[in-house]
Amino acid sequence: MGKAKPKYCEICGAPIRGPGHRIRIEGTELLVCDRCYEKYGKKKPGTFSIMPTGRQPRRSARPVPRPKRELKPKRERPLYTEEIVEDFAERVYRAIQRSGKSYEELSHEVGLSVNDLRAIAHGYREPTIKEARKLERYFKIKLIERVEEEVKEKKVIPRDYEPTLGDIANIRVKKRKK
Ligand SMILES: [Zn+2]
Repeated sequence: MGKAKPKYCEICGAPIRGPGHRIRIEGTELLVCDRCYEKYGKKKPGTFSIMPTGRQPRRSARPVPRPKRELKPKRERPLYTEEIVEDFAERVYRAIQRSGKSYEELSHEVGLSVNDLRAIAHGYREPTIKEARKLERYFKIKLIERVEEEVKEKKVIPRDYEPTLGDIANIRVKKRKK
């Protein structure tokens, strides 16, 4: 006797011992095991539909866990920006007054041109961060503040964000204004 190919029930997938049974279900001939033959083979075609027997895939009682979203994403750089304080002009102006020195003198010592010093002290323009550092160091005052970027972070729309009808209405309004 040559080795016969193992046969498997075409309904439940169980290995078939012996010759198996050929049955017709919904116009298809199937080779099935004894058990399925018992179950389906003797019924009249068309009176049932094939359901996998016994071995239903086990559904776990717990819902499938969602991938955990990291609560604290690793930050590669500190999340803040450096900004010039609002009342920089007042701070610089008072520092200059306190020093009792002239703009010309200070210009050399601070490392800014007289025009720049004056423009900043009078609030004509904001100092750059670089200029502000020079002024901070020289006058021992604070001109740069760190602003945390949390506000920006909060604006990020979460992946599972679903717009509400209100949001959609807003979006439409915005588009119309263009
Ligand atoms: Zn079977």
